[in-house]
Parts: sequence; C-alpha cells; structure tokens
Amino acid sequence: MDILVSEDDPTTRAILNALLKKWGHNTVVTNDGEEAWQRLQQESPPRLLLLDWMMPKMDGIEVCQRVRDAAKEEEPYTYIILLTAKGSKENVVSGFEAGADDYIVKPFDEFELRARLKAGHRIVELQTELLKAKQDLLHQSLTDDLTGIMNRRAILSQLRRSMERSKRTGELLSVSLLDIDRFKSVNDTYGHPAGDIVLKECARKIQSVLRPYDLFGRFGGEEFMVITPDIVETAASVAYERIREAIENSTIALPNGSLAITASQGVALWNGEETMDEFISRADQALYKAKDAGRNCIEFASECAITHD
Ligand code: GH3
Ligand code: MG
Ligand code: MG
Ligand code: MG
Repeated sequence: MDILVSEDDPTTRAILNALLKKWGHNTVVTNDGEEAWQRLQQESPPRLLLLDWMMPKMDGIEVCQRVRDAAKEEEPYTYIILLTAKGSKENVVSGFEAGADDYIVKPFDEFELRARLKAGHRIVELQTELLKAKQDLLHQSLTDDLTGIMNRRAILSQLRRSMERSKRTGELLSVSLLDIDRFKSVNDTYGHPAGDIVLKECARKIQSVLRPYDLFGRFGGEEFMVITPDIVETAASVAYERIREAIENSTIALPNGSLAITASQGVALWNGEETMDEFISRADQALYKAKDAGRNCIEFASECAITHD
C-alpha cells in the first residue's frame, strides 16, 4: 500500500522511509505539510498518511483538517496517523479533533508503529470495499437488468432533472415513449427468452442512433423512454424518425429463427408548465394515437409545437 510520510526532520524521515519499505509499503516522502498537501491533490493520492505535527509551511494538523474538509463521499477514505513529540492529553484531543484517526508519540516504538499501520491499512481496505459495494448497489438500483440501460427510476429522475434545467435555461425539451409493436405475439410465437433477446437488441439499436446527450431508459415492459434535451422541433422529428427506421431496418437473430420488428412512438414537447406526470401522459396519449394510426409511426402530442406531416 502507498503511504505518504510527511516529516521535516531528516533523520526521522529516513528512518520512517526505511522501515515502511522494509515492511513492504510504497512510500511517498515529503518534507513539510505543504508538499504533502500538494501531493494529495494529484491523481490517486495515498490513502494512508503518516504526518508529523510540527513542520514548516504547513503543519500536520492543517493537512489533517484540509483532507477532511475536502473529503468527498464518492472517494476512498484517507486514514491519518499523527506522529509527534506533542504527547499531552490536550494535544492528543486536538489531534483527533482535527481529523486524525490515530496518534503516535515520539520517540516511537517500531513495533507499535507497525501494528498501528496495519490497523490503518485494514480500515482503508474496509472503507474501499464499502465504497465499491455502495457504488455497485447504486448502479444496480438505476440499471435495467435485462438491457443494461437506465431503468424506470433512473430515466424518470433524469427527466425530472432535464425539466429543472429546461426551466432554468429555457432550452427545449422533448420526450418520446416508444413501444414495440405486437410484442406479445413475439413472445407467443418464439417464446419469452426470444422476447428478451428482442428487447435487448431493440435497446441496443436505439442506443446506437442517439446523440451523446440524449437520455434513454426502459420505461417498463416493452416500452422505452427517450429524452432529447436542447433540440429544436424539426431536429426532434429527425431524431425520433432515425430511431423508428433503425428498428424497422434491423433483423434480429434468434435461436429459432430471425425476425423484424417495428415500434411506435408518442412524442411530447414540454410546455414549461406541466408536471412530469402530465408531460408523460401527453406522450402516452400520442403513443395511443400512433398505435391507432397503424403502428410503426410517430405521433406528436397536442399542445406540442412540433409539426409533423
Ligand atoms: P401493441 O402493438 O399494441 O403494443 O401490442 P403488444 O403486443 O406489444 O402489447 P401488449 O401490451 O399486449 O403486450 C406487451 C407484452 O410484453 C406482454 C408482456 O408479456 C411482454 N413483456 C413485458 N416485459 C417483458 C420482458 O421483460 N420480456 C419479455 N420477453 N416480454 C415482456
Ligand atoms: Mg517536525
Ligand atoms: Mg406496451
Ligand atoms: Mg407493444
């Protein structure tokens, strides 16, 4: 593990460096707090710090405080051991108050230092595992298992954010609800697993024609939602038409054959006033119209400025 040592006394610094290396650690050695702080601003900083308290330019206490102030929830934990000649109770307390995790009084005992480093190492590893588990859970809670795209919760949260931004900036915002046509008959004819392949393939096709800033998720069942922010009406028509064509023109290979599918879309342009439910409901009504109009087509919601021929 990488350990950052900050110590202004050359002899102590050399001893610490030699010991840490002997115990198998990589060391990043700095001569004062300012140098230590600078190193900590760089990419992949060490997560275990051994800081002397009294140093020129910036002392160990200030480094401690800065590390804690700058700590971000999504970054690994930094474990700090203060190493100092200041051994009074008051000093120990103020060291902990500054954010230190542990405290060693000089002159230090080699075995004690090693044991305390081991404890620190353990905490850093546990915190890293915890962070990873948290990130994995967050990712899972926002991802659709089958297709790997955003799930309903995630795409709706994106829609809410897009509406907030649109309100702030005045940029246009439209949404498309896309529903695969006669999908039930795919399941009935080829089986549910084949239906799953079709859903995955369809998601992949849609993704492949989106612009980088479009947002796309599985709304539920065989329905998807595409959010196109900052797009003028005619460009929105073109974007949704591109999706329709991409689906229509693809043949999906299945274990027991191959098939072509189509999808219908209902599109609404946000009027800047309505709630998210009202906005989605207009897109949904347009989707019904598209189904009624014979499927494999795009219908635009009323009160929507997008013109469509
Ligand atoms: P329409 O053109 O009117 O949309 O007809 P449809 O058959 O697509 O619509 P319907 O709502 O009747 O059927 C949707 C089907 O989608 C029924 C449901 O079993 C199937 N479905 C929903 N989720 C999944 C899934 O995750 N995997 C598979 N294989 N099928 C799914
Ligand atoms: Mg010192
Ligand atoms: Mg449906
Ligand atoms: Mg359908």
